[in-house]
Amino acid sequence: MKKKKRNTNQGSNVRGTLVGFFLMFCAIALLFGWVYKIGVNRPPLKYALIPESTIEYLRNLNNINPGQGINLSDEGPMDWDNDEDFGQTASGDMKWRFEEDENFIVYYHKDKDALWQGYAQQVLKYADAAIPSMIDLMGRYYYPKDMNGRKLAIYLAESENVYNNTINQLMNTNPASRHTGSIGITVFSIGRTGCMTDGIVIHPDCFKDDPHGENGYYKVLLHEMNHYVFFSSLDYSKPIKHYLWVSEGIAEYYCQRNDGKQISSPEAIAFIEQKCALNSEFPLTDNSAYWAGESFYLHLGNQNEKRVKDFINLAYTTSTDSVFILSKMDQSTTHKKWVEDLRAHQLLETEEMPEEPEVQ
Ligand SMILES: [Zn+2]
Repeated sequence: MKKKKRNTNQGSNVRGTLVGFFLMFCAIALLFGWVYKIGVNRPPLKYALIPESTIEYLRNLNNINPGQGINLSDEGPMDWDNDEDFGQTASGDMKWRFEEDENFIVYYHKDKDALWQGYAQQVLKYADAAIPSMIDLMGRYYYPKDMNGRKLAIYLAESENVYNNTINQLMNTNPASRHTGSIGITVFSIGRTGCMTDGIVIHPDCFKDDPHGENGYYKVLLHEMNHYVFFSSLDYSKPIKHYLWVSEGIAEYYCQRNDGKQISSPEAIAFIEQKCALNSEFPLTDNSAYWAGESFYLHLGNQNEKRVKDFINLAYTTSTDSVFILSKMDQSTTHKKWVEDLRAHQLLETEEMPEEPEVQ
C-alpha cells in the first residue's frame, strides 16, 4: 500500500511536473506572443530621441501656421486605434456618423445626414483615388498596416462651430479657441512612438462650391493628405528644420490649387525676387509659403518632375539648407534662375496675380 501509495505519489509528482512544465511553456508562449504582438502593433522606436532642434521646428510650425496642429509628447501617441477617435467617443450634440473603407474613415455630423453622408462617400472616393499620384510624387503612402492599423481619419465639419470644436478636441486646446484663417487642418501627435495623424478637418465653406474649385473640398482634401504623407515621412530622430514653404508649397503643388499654372503677374514675380530667398522663411503675412512655395516647385519641376521628387525625398531626412547642398544647388543661384524662369514665362502669358489662397 505504502509502495503503491508512494508509486501513486510519484506518478502524480511526475504528472504534476509535466503539468507544471506545460503551464510554464504556455505562459512563456503567451508572453512571447504578447511581446511579439506589441512589437507588431507598435512602430520601431526610431524616434526614441527627438533632437531639440527638430522639436523646435515642430513647435514653431504650430506658432506660424494656423493650418496645422502638432501635439508633442515625450511618450508619443499611444492610442492608434480608430475606436479612440473623437469621431467615435463624442456624445450628445457632437455625436458623429461615419463612412469607412479599408484605408479611410470619414466622420460627418449626425444632422442633415443624407447630404453629409453623400459628401463623406465622395471624400472616400477622392481619397482612395489620390493614393497612386501621392506615391508617384512623394515616393510613398501610408496605409493602415503602416500605421498600427489606424485608418486616416477625416472630419467633415458642417458648421464653423463644429470645425473649431473638432480642432480643439484633437489638439486639446481651449474649447473657446477659434481657428479663423484656415479652411482645412491636419492634426498630428508626435513623440517617441512615431507620428500619428489624429485627423484632417475640413471647413464647411469647402462644401459650398464646386469640390474641384480653388477652395473646394477636393483640393483641400488633397492638400491635407499631402501633409499626412510628408509629416509621416520625416525622420524625427534626425535634426530637421524646414521653412514653411517646403511643406505648404509641395501640398499646393500636389493639389494643383492653381490648376498647375505658374504665376505670371509682375507684382508676384517682384515679390518673389525681393522677399522669397530660398534660405529663409517667405513672408508669413502674405501666405507666400503657399503660392510662392508652389511656384518654386513648378519651377524646379519645369523640365523634369524628378527634381521635385528628389528634393522631397531628401527633405524627409534632413533640413532644407542641407537638401540644397546635397542636391548641388546653390540657394542664391537657384533663386535667380527661378526669377528668370518666371520672367521668361511672363512674356508668354499675362495673367492677374492669383488671389492669396486661404491658409490650410
Ligand atoms: Zn497646409
